[in-house]
Amino acid sequence: MSNTKSAYKAALGVFQQAVRTLATWSGTNLPDGCEDVASLEAMEIAKELLSWQSEADNIGALRLLFDGIGSSNSESESIKPKRHYWQPQAIETVGEEFYPRIPYPLSYPTGSDPTDMDFEKLKQKIQEQIRNLNKYDWQNLALLTLFVEKFGSYIHLGEEDVAFTDITKSTAAIAATLAENPEAENIALVAGDLSGIQNFIYTISSDGALKSLRARSFYLELVTEEVVQQLLQNLELPRTNVVYAGGGNLYVLAPAGEDTQRKVAQVREQINHWLFDCFQGKVFLALDHLEFHRNNIQSKEFSEYWSAATKKLAKQKARKFENQLQTLLGKQTTYEPCRVCHRDDEPKLHPLRQEPDSPLACKTCREMFELGGDLLKVKAIVRSHRKDIRGSCHSIHFQLPATPSLNQEDIWYHLFDSDKPVVVESDTVLLVDNWNIDNYQFKLFKNPVPLLLGNYGKESEQEQSNFIRSEEMVEYAEGIPRVGYLRMDVDNLGTIFAQGLGEAQTLPRLTGLSRQMSYFFKVYLNSLAANRQENMPPNARKLTPSAKRENLLFIYAGGDDLFISGSWNEVVEFAFDIYQSFRSHTGYNPNISISGGISLAETKFPLYQAAEESGDAEEKAKGNGRDSLGMFGQVFKWDEWLGNRDRVLDAFLQNLENYFSREEFPQEEVPIGIFPTVDILRNQLEIGYARSFLRNLLATAQLQEKAIEDLEEKQKIYPEQDKDLRYYLHLPKVAYTLARLPQTMRDNPEFEKVRKALLSPYNAPYFRAIATWLELLNRSSDTTTGKEKEEELRS
Ligand SMILES: [Zn+2]
Repeated sequence: MSNTKSAYKAALGVFQQAVRTLATWSGTNLPDGCEDVASLEAMEIAKELLSWQSEADNIGALRLLFDGIGSSNSESESIKPKRHYWQPQAIETVGEEFYPRIPYPLSYPTGSDPTDMDFEKLKQKIQEQIRNLNKYDWQNLALLTLFVEKFGSYIHLGEEDVAFTDITKSTAAIAATLAENPEAENIALVAGDLSGIQNFIYTISSDGALKSLRARSFYLELVTEEVVQQLLQNLELPRTNVVYAGGGNLYVLAPAGEDTQRKVAQVREQINHWLFDCFQGKVFLALDHLEFHRNNIQSKEFSEYWSAATKKLAKQKARKFENQLQTLLGKQTTYEPCRVCHRDDEPKLHPLRQEPDSPLACKTCREMFELGGDLLKVKAIVRSHRKDIRGSCHSIHFQLPATPSLNQEDIWYHLFDSDKPVVVESDTVLLVDNWNIDNYQFKLFKNPVPLLLGNYGKESEQEQSNFIRSEEMVEYAEGIPRVGYLRMDVDNLGTIFAQGLGEAQTLPRLTGLSRQMSYFFKVYLNSLAANRQENMPPNARKLTPSAKRENLLFIYAGGDDLFISGSWNEVVEFAFDIYQSFRSHTGYNPNISISGGISLAETKFPLYQAAEESGDAEEKAKGNGRDSLGMFGQVFKWDEWLGNRDRVLDAFLQNLENYFSREEFPQEEVPIGIFPTVDILRNQLEIGYARSFLRNLLATAQLQEKAIEDLEEKQKIYPEQDKDLRYYLHLPKVAYTLARLPQTMRDNPEFEKVRKALLSPYNAPYFRAIATWLELLNRSSDTTTGKEKEEELRS
């Protein structure tokens, strides 16, 4: 990218003004030699369009943007979200921790307004960093962008819920699009979507291939990155014009006009030729642009264009690879299929590993397997046109084929386990999860770019410099030796982006929403996995409060979803940790929820099936009115799993108001819901009695279900009968089971809570889940698969 290009200069100019504003606010001067670029007309127009006010006096504590979601269309007043704000702070790591701490918003009025002290701390950090800047840094757009993001993510510049960094980035992007032609009435939004990603990641079936799966999802992040690079390179735009890129989706602001249209089409053609060759037509890039009037960036019309651009992509997907149709339909020679991905167009397969029984695999799969191990400590990725760079531990080659309009281009992504690779000027250095501004300074390289990756993975103890293997996960698991697979995604994210903020859905706010989602899935999930104790929200419920539960391997985390593996009991706890963290992060807004699914499997169980099972569980959670978790073959709202008493009671009273009365609801000390009951029972059950007790509990749940089924088949005799069976039929049997426990257990005063919990009709719906969970924690070893186990317990 040419740094003399006017678009780059316009963006740089806006960021220089932003950093100058932060300097003034913090009470310091910029070092000598920091010369601003000459002000361009486009910068002034962009500032006016976005009402960008650079006066330091306007800076204040940032309100939580999520508070505004759904507030304009809430039907009842009662579900209106509360008001929250962020403590002013910088994004940074603490001590030896590699990932930044997760900040949680504070609520009015229980919290108080941020004090001068809070602002002072941030100001001091800004001062220190400004003292380190030199005249070269001042011309480095990437560094200044990071500076503003690091220090300007939790303060505003006039509009209370728009972050300093988001308004600055939006203004810079608009200035860049107008740089060549400040008179232009229109601006283009380029939208892209890589489809087929799920097929590429999830359909592999090799044993011990967790790290291949991880490599595949990483590889696709690089493909997304390459599409972004190609767009910016061809449209000659700075990186700040990327509104969002991740999880195969991207949005870029560009100048309107035929030139953009033509170049977007050229990039799409070339990338799709390449994808077709690489993935046998499984992965496809939809890429299109849409023009809108520049006055609309500060109005809700912008979100309508955003949705319209996304819809245009759906049309392209429907006609994907129309140019390569002949190749797809033509009879191709087939060979022995690859054991991992099943592709059959490669004449010669080779063993995946240097072991006697290793399965035969295609070139891509062998590469992915090898790459998997090298991802553990990747700190920098260099994008280069050079094949070899000294010190790189792994290189990935993208060969973009020649098309009628573009030349062949050979690109290598070189992986480094250091954040200081030595490179030539034209190379781009992607610094992985790196918030340290010193690493972006010019003396090291010319084009640094921060790359956020949801990439936590425990290091293997058996195989150095590698990720934890599934064999280790089951070994470290409590109870039954199983790998857990967790999938989660945000409910209705499309709607949230399209209309969540109502009239207030402007470019800077959409930029803010995208950034916050990226932070959660690509930054904070790492923090939460690696440093549990430091990163849980206040008052979170934990089954094992002091455990680290770090035997996890992220397969994918980004966009608005995740796929994570690990020791099954730790995966289960992690799911609850994520849920609680997400809710706190989004200010407990009732309009923003997340659903999840968990499956358990043996190490030899095919990965694609385990992925499918957790996907099915997640689907069931979505089908349960969302905001739910599917696990152990059952699905409940998160609040029912977690035993949030008010929500459990509300749910009961909503449906059964005439049946139950509030008075019957057990007292505070009696656990209600799954999580608290499991928690108290596992501490009370004496080994030796546990097994038969749990068996009885399950048998009771089964009797009850059978009775309900029978009743549903027949005509109901009287309307309350179904409820009587559902909530009271089991009570005598539970009482009998409890009575058979040894006297010593029953005499324990704590046991009274257990007795009341199990005899409460409010816990009746959760019986099976409680018993299954405890049973799995108690099982030390057997050979049935997770699914068989669940079925065995179910029958
Ligand atoms: Zn393969």
